[in-house]
Amino acid sequence: MTRKSFLKRLSTLPILSALWPHLMGSAGGASPSPSPASRVRPSDPGWPDNAAWEKLNQAVGGRLIKVESPLAGYSAANDTAHANILKDLQNPFYIGDQPGATQTTGWVDAWMSAPSVYAIAAQTADDVVAGVNFARTNNLRLVVKGGGHSYLGGSNAADSLLIWTRAMNKVMLHDTFVGQGCAGHQSPQPAVTIESGAMWIDAYHAVTGEGGRYVQGGGCTTVGVAGLIQGGGFGSWSKKFGIAAAGLLEAEIVTADGQIRIANACTNSDLFWAIKGGGGGTFGVLTKLTLRTRDLPDFFGAVIATIQAKSDTAFHDLLHEFIDFYRDHLFNPHWGETVSFRGNNELAITMVFQGLAKSEVETLWNPFFDWIKKSPDKYTIAFDPIILALPAQKFWDAAFLKKYLPQAVHSDSREGASENHYWWDADNGQIGKYWHGYQSTWLPKTLLAKDQTAELVNALFSATRHWGATFHFNKGLAGASPEEIAAARDTPMNPAVLNAFALVIIGGGGPPVYPGIPGHEPDITTARQNAQKIGQAMTEFSKVVPKPASYVNETNYFEESWQESFWGPNYARLKIIKEKYDPAGLFFVHHGVGSEAWSPDGFTRRA
Ligand SMILES: Cc1cc2nc3c(=O)[nH]c(=O)nc-3n(C[C@H](O)[C@H](O)[C@H](O)COP(=O)(O)OP(=O)(O)OC[C@H]3O[C@@H](n4cnc5c(N)ncnc54)[C@H](O)[C@@H]3O)c2cc1C
Repeated sequence: MTRKSFLKRLSTLPILSALWPHLMGSAGGASPSPSPASRVRPSDPGWPDNAAWEKLNQAVGGRLIKVESPLAGYSAANDTAHANILKDLQNPFYIGDQPGATQTTGWVDAWMSAPSVYAIAAQTADDVVAGVNFARTNNLRLVVKGGGHSYLGGSNAADSLLIWTRAMNKVMLHDTFVGQGCAGHQSPQPAVTIESGAMWIDAYHAVTGEGGRYVQGGGCTTVGVAGLIQGGGFGSWSKKFGIAAAGLLEAEIVTADGQIRIANACTNSDLFWAIKGGGGGTFGVLTKLTLRTRDLPDFFGAVIATIQAKSDTAFHDLLHEFIDFYRDHLFNPHWGETVSFRGNNELAITMVFQGLAKSEVETLWNPFFDWIKKSPDKYTIAFDPIILALPAQKFWDAAFLKKYLPQAVHSDSREGASENHYWWDADNGQIGKYWHGYQSTWLPKTLLAKDQTAELVNALFSATRHWGATFHFNKGLAGASPEEIAAARDTPMNPAVLNAFALVIIGGGGPPVYPGIPGHEPDITTARQNAQKIGQAMTEFSKVVPKPASYVNETNYFEESWQESFWGPNYARLKIIKEKYDPAGLFFVHHGVGSEAWSPDGFTRRA
């Protein structure tokens, strides 16, 4: 019997289970509270009284908020006010500023966005400590929210206390960063420390716009830094710069016992490894993160085009041609982002590049576009190819983009809003979205081999007969340098990511839903029908992917075997780390590490 299986058996014995943290190596600090059988709701007698809440309010400098939905005043408002509320809810920065809202409004049969009872609008690590201690001692359901973009609803729960990090958004650059306790073990390197409530646009503005450097983060400007990193995280150029979490050098984290800990390669290295992809809201509350920065390429560019095939056969041929073209010319660190394959036989290209001159890119793509143009009976170019290259330092510069690419961006137009804040038009369709279905799986690079292409193309074509599919080439590391692959291997992500040339995402939904607001109720029947079609489309890929695995930050709420799917062989180690730092399961998220021990709403411990 191995040490691990021996300890696991011991832990099932009631008396010895109390010793579990010590056997496994406890996190130290305050002794963990005993595991509650169920957490309290406002209607329960155990819910803290007003005096207790007031004491917490004082401890956090008056930053305890009674949370309401931004729609709370809707029914009493007039038509103009209605229109203004609904307009604000189409602005992701406004949504992010609401403690009682999330960027996704819900997902059919899965979850609906619900405000917490109270939120701590944390400004310091001490505020977070006060919140964690209060939740633990009062047996509350605790939620953590940063950017609020969780697809799985991880940052909201009814009847909960929310630790809301939105106001913790400072960014600080370093020329020579060495992690605490790492002197003599790590060479000093350029880095950036970002408070955990910051959005990626805040990081890019400071690191690239002002600092002339690159930090690996997400494509969407309003996604939160802490949520993305804890899931692993992909940027547009992951095949060049690796996964975002692999660039994490250090984090400050408040664990369930209320201790502020440093986690890096030299201090609490197990916790450090776990937060590099083990999932948000699970191991503690991150208060700041330090990420390595890199040299900035001269240019970032994009290739955008849409091709319409005039028949199913022509579309099938086009898929084949494109996959061949991708394998031979784009499967390398220069290229990232997406191509969508649609049910109406359209192929939409939104690829980005780095490290290439515009003229090189034109020469590279000419043969592909020539192939299309020579068959006007089979194809039309629905959206003429645009190939553009921008000075990389201007890529996240709102003023520059508004001037030269106004159609690509939307500004936060509220009075007093930061001039640096914009969101990409490409993300517009996701604001407040109500998901009908959303599934993803990594596509192994073996499917690109010449003798496998036909199989891949058949699966892709068949999938599109049910629902459109998008290949995110930047969300698989095959084609990246050995150094980036090695760095990604030192994270808990499912190792399938290392050999995947892309993540295929199949998703669909409708406009935001606001139950109780006329005209904004969910259409459950349509949603369920669409969910079924999305599932059928993904089944076509399951036929060619022997061991499906998925990216925890962009995945199916109903993922089966989620432990295996998100983390594969790393799950067992994650579970041990979870039990060490959070033995009572204070931190709960749907399909998070250790969540098997709880009811789906995180309120009741399973027997
Ligand atoms: C429009 C859109 C675009 C996206 N684009 C990309 C992309 O380009 N690349 C990519 O990899 N992913 C992308 N994602 C997925 C994204 O990475 C995840 O949704 C991520 O978890 C969002 O983080 P957040 O802080 O915004 O969300 P939140 O909902 O606030 O948090 C997500 C999870 O992390 C937890 N969490 C948040 N802050 C903390 C903290 N300080 N400490 C501990 N736990 C915390 C929450 O409890 C929750 O479980 C996108 C999502 C959307 C909706």
